[in-house]
Amino acid sequence: MNVTRSTFNEVMVPNYQPADMVMVRGEGSRVWDQAGRDYIDFAGGIAVTLLGHCHPKLVHALTEQAGKLWHLSNVMTNEPALQLATKLVNATFADRVFFCNSGAEANEAAFKLARRYGNGISPTKNQIISFYNAFHGRTLFTVSVGGQAKYTQGFEPIPAGITHLPFNDVAALEAAVSENTCAIVLEPIQGEGGIMPATPAFIAAARRLADQHRALLIFDEVQSGMGRSGHLYAYQHYGVAPDVLTSAKGLGGGFPIGAMLCTKAAADVLAFGTHGSTYGGNPLACAVGEAVIDTVNDPALLAGVLHRAQLFRDGLDSIGRRYGVFTPSRGLGLLIGAPMSDAWKGRAKDIVNAAMAHGVWTLVAGPDVLRMAPSLIISEADIAEGLRRLEAGVADLVGTAKAAAA
Ligand SMILES: *Cc1c(COP(=O)(O)O)cnc(C)c1O
Repeated sequence: MNVTRSTFNEVMVPNYQPADMVMVRGEGSRVWDQAGRDYIDFAGGIAVTLLGHCHPKLVHALTEQAGKLWHLSNVMTNEPALQLATKLVNATFADRVFFCNSGAEANEAAFKLARRYGNGISPTKNQIISFYNAFHGRTLFTVSVGGQAKYTQGFEPIPAGITHLPFNDVAALEAAVSENTCAIVLEPIQGEGGIMPATPAFIAAARRLADQHRALLIFDEVQSGMGRSGHLYAYQHYGVAPDVLTSAKGLGGGFPIGAMLCTKAAADVLAFGTHGSTYGGNPLACAVGEAVIDTVNDPALLAGVLHRAQLFRDGLDSIGRRYGVFTPSRGLGLLIGAPMSDAWKGRAKDIVNAAMAHGVWTLVAGPDVLRMAPSLIISEADIAEGLRRLEAGVADLVGTAKAAAA
């Protein structure tokens, strides 16, 4: 069957607007389109393909498991799920794991856990505190806890009992938390909201206030987790452990899986029958997840993340200085944002398109930030070539802007 980008408009719901080309193959940090053209992947499938495309260890884990056992449901447990959960528990603050299939589902579980925890203490303990510009997924509960009104508009009525505060504002948090708060939810590095790291003081205050008011502290590490920050999870960079942590995206390296990690006390809230997912803990997903954590949770790989991040940041800052399009980059590890300069406000997407025309795939994080979330093991040669292509795209745009002004 001959399908092209234009087939999309004929058969797909129009909630996405994919790029013009259709990719057919990937290897490492390169992908190829139907015409055989190659692109350097600085997007990582939105912080997902953290070992690049078709990493031999992941292909092996998937195909080996594919010949053994695909699915049982949670009426049965299985070896890959038990092994992956054991590895996650051993590597983190967590005592217990709940598996699901996406970041939104992991957060849905965390927020439902928080409500049930609050209700177990008092009927008025149901306030969830979250932050403007946060992103927690696209289910109705997760868009409601998320801090971007555009994602709930038209979907009302939305769940009640959610308070949004400015991110990194300790005083606002102190003023809002009370005995009616059941959870404080935050991304240690806001991803979709513009690659905005939490300040250490803010994270410390959230932990202290949650403890004072018997609220759960929930870290959404769907984007920041699995080595991206240079630590297995970004909370380890801050040295502050949450009660509940959600993980997805990179956890499957491209295979769908989500997980909620939590303390034993938090886990006990989700007693038998209170929550579930047919596919959660699927053997295929967990076998791949195990290969991912075995590879990523390695001091040499994590040190390599920080080294690569520096190459990216230096390259981006140099392009920013020479063309005046970016202000200094920000982020943690290989979750990198280059904010647009005043003159280029609102034009991050134009840069993505111009760079794509030169064969490098980047992302936006809102209209004003160019985002990169590449493979954690991208080669230095691919970083250099990708930055060269990005610069060529920027040079085109700047040239066009100058021509238009002349
Ligand atoms: C992507 C993302 C989600 C949602 O994950 P899905 O797998 O798309 O449901 C939730 N939280 C954060 C921080 C994310 O970046």
